[in-house]
Amino acid sequence: MTFQFYMPTRIMVGRNCLSENGGRLAELGSKAFIMSGKNSAARNGSLRDMTAALDGENISWYHYNGVKPNPSLEDVRKAAALAQGEKTDFIVALGGGSPMDAAKAVAVLAAGKVSDEALLSQRTFDRVLPLAVVPTTSGTGSEVTPYSILTNDKLRTKSFLNSEQIYPRLAFLDGRYTMDLPESITGATVIDALSHAAEGYLAVRAMPPGRALALESLRLIGEMLPLLANGTPLSLEQRDKLLYASMVAGIVISQSGTTAVHALGYSLTYFKGVDHGAANGMILAEYLRFIEKERPGETGTILRALGMETPDELEDLTGAILGRLSLDMREISRFASIAIRAGNILNTCPKPSEEDLIRILTNCFSNEGE
Ligand code: NAP
Ligand code: FE
Repeated sequence: MTFQFYMPTRIMVGRNCLSENGGRLAELGSKAFIMSGKNSAARNGSLRDMTAALDGENISWYHYNGVKPNPSLEDVRKAAALAQGEKTDFIVALGGGSPMDAAKAVAVLAAGKVSDEALLSQRTFDRVLPLAVVPTTSGTGSEVTPYSILTNDKLRTKSFLNSEQIYPRLAFLDGRYTMDLPESITGATVIDALSHAAEGYLAVRAMPPGRALALESLRLIGEMLPLLANGTPLSLEQRDKLLYASMVAGIVISQSGTTAVHALGYSLTYFKGVDHGAANGMILAEYLRFIEKERPGETGTILRALGMETPDELEDLTGAILGRLSLDMREISRFASIAIRAGNILNTCPKPSEEDLIRILTNCFSNEGE
């Protein structure tokens, strides 16, 4: 057995974990740049609790609420200029993957002069500001990953910043902040976490502890999928479970990376405006059918952890939660030609050809013959 496992984030889980562990923030500096989206952080209590914790430690702060969903390179440069002007010691993110990923890029860009090319290709930087994060979707798992996924308008897809230096130092997970997530965002983000666990289990870079965590996450998410498909309102305890399951799935991809599902999903988000998690979820069952041909034992293990027998059952539930999308053959060919160049294709076993990707997308989305 040969593997490495590196996870430097201090993960604090539980009710009031932010107010009870506010002292940890003082380890990061005395001026914080808080990043969030437009509305949710102010409504779900995370902004109030974070600013109270910072005030309690005499840490001054500036709140930037301009992070848009799927932040672009241009967006993070603007925020980094502001953070630099504020003479920030550390970055705080409140929100889903978008504020957390934007904060990771700002942590690099506000600490030194870095070109777009260097940002997306270098694994180490001279200096990176420390980060504290509060996830409020469940989710991307970005609170425990070394990745920041940024919209790249030059390449018309999403590109990765991947550096161990952007692992958040502190992650505060309190399910209360996710209580008012709308049904559609809950469904899409939970299915992103499900994709992370399933892809992480099957990835070329998968390893034993990551696989054990993937099964833990799949088991918890599998219990929730029927509730999400029925539109049953979730209790606080169920929200806690989902936040935990998505963090665990984040640890899985922090070590193993994602695979073809994410590579294909990026075009659905970039060109069709489909939420990140929904984009993955619409492809996941067909991806399992593709992998099943060579690795039926492993796809069977994933399905059993979810409480299912076949990819068809998964497809029925994800379809009920996410709805359906159609693409024409021109779009399908274009999206496959973009995805085949993505790094996560090399992390897929068996490695799909461009024709395989066209077949996967056709089976999921073709509207021809309707
Ligand atoms: P998101 O883009 O961060 O947020 C989506 C929407 O949810 C926003 O409108 C946001 O509103 C709202 N929202 C967030 N928390 C809420 C709450 N508690 N209550 C009500 N509304 C809330 O969604 P996401 O799916 O978490 O993140 C997607 C991004 O993460 C994508 O860019 C994706 O590529 C990336 N991602 C990163 C990783 C990684 O490892 N780094 C992994 C997977 C995906 P506000 O704008 O008002 O906050
Ligand atoms: Fe994802």
